Amino acid sequence: MPELPEVEVTARALAQRFDGRRLEAVRVHDPRLRWPVPRTLPAKVAGQPIERIDRRGKYLLWHLPGGVLISHLGMSGTWRIHEPGQAPPRHPHDHVEVFCDGAVARFKDPRRFGALLWHAAADGAVLDHPLLATLGVEPFDPRFDGQWLWDATRGRRLAIKQVLLAGKDVVGVGNIYATESLYRARIHPQAEAGRIGRVRYERLAAAIRDVLGRAIAAGGSTLRDFSSVEGLAGRYTDIAQAYGRQGLPCARCGAPIRRAVQGQRATYYCPRCQRR
Ligand SMILES: [Zn+2]
Repeated sequence: MPELPEVEVTARALAQRFDGRRLEAVRVHDPRLRWPVPRTLPAKVAGQPIERIDRRGKYLLWHLPGGVLISHLGMSGTWRIHEPGQAPPRHPHDHVEVFCDGAVARFKDPRRFGALLWHAAADGAVLDHPLLATLGVEPFDPRFDGQWLWDATRGRRLAIKQVLLAGKDVVGVGNIYATESLYRARIHPQAEAGRIGRVRYERLAAAIRDVLGRAIAAGGSTLRDFSSVEGLAGRYTDIAQAYGRQGLPCARCGAPIRRAVQGQRATYYCPRCQRR
């Protein structure tokens, strides 16, 4: 499943190629995504300049003068850019094509949990869209720090890993990144969120930014296939110190890394140096 780093890398690649260019046309070949692609969308966006492309959480936002094209990668979605004359034959799972500056960006989504929606400027700020309004703070937002996590978790008995995965306090810390961040911060994934102190939360906030930053850097500058979790874990082996390493020695203390299932997701931790 694409996580925040893959979405960030995708946003950067799209922005680098298309920011400031004119969107010539959108062609919808198969509207069946998580929600149907609106029938009127192509007519609304054609001919508009792309002011910029960025993201909020895992939503890609194409900002146009008349509104924002909102795209989500779902479970298996990818955007790929093909330069003029270099596009291979269209794949059956290529749902949408965006033509811009002679190039084409194709949205492929075999599992169809992705989305492509239109938010008109007349309907207000895109960040108030129902899909975006409830998202937690961005991990690279200056407001996000240990104090933020500490404030958000007072009195809460939920395990810290579940708090991170829920995305309501800080957005975009998926399973791999939550596992790695907790390992680095020496916090047990099942530690009660309300009982973790400020100092440990400072370590956790720093670890989250470090792990996500490394993953974004490892994603490089090209659009690639991020659809398999195995591939992901493989690509980030240089940053994975706990994830997928059950039975292997902890880099800090040598104790074997353990695997457990928490909230139906695999988690990995060092039983000796990650404290509850
Ligand atoms: Zn250890």
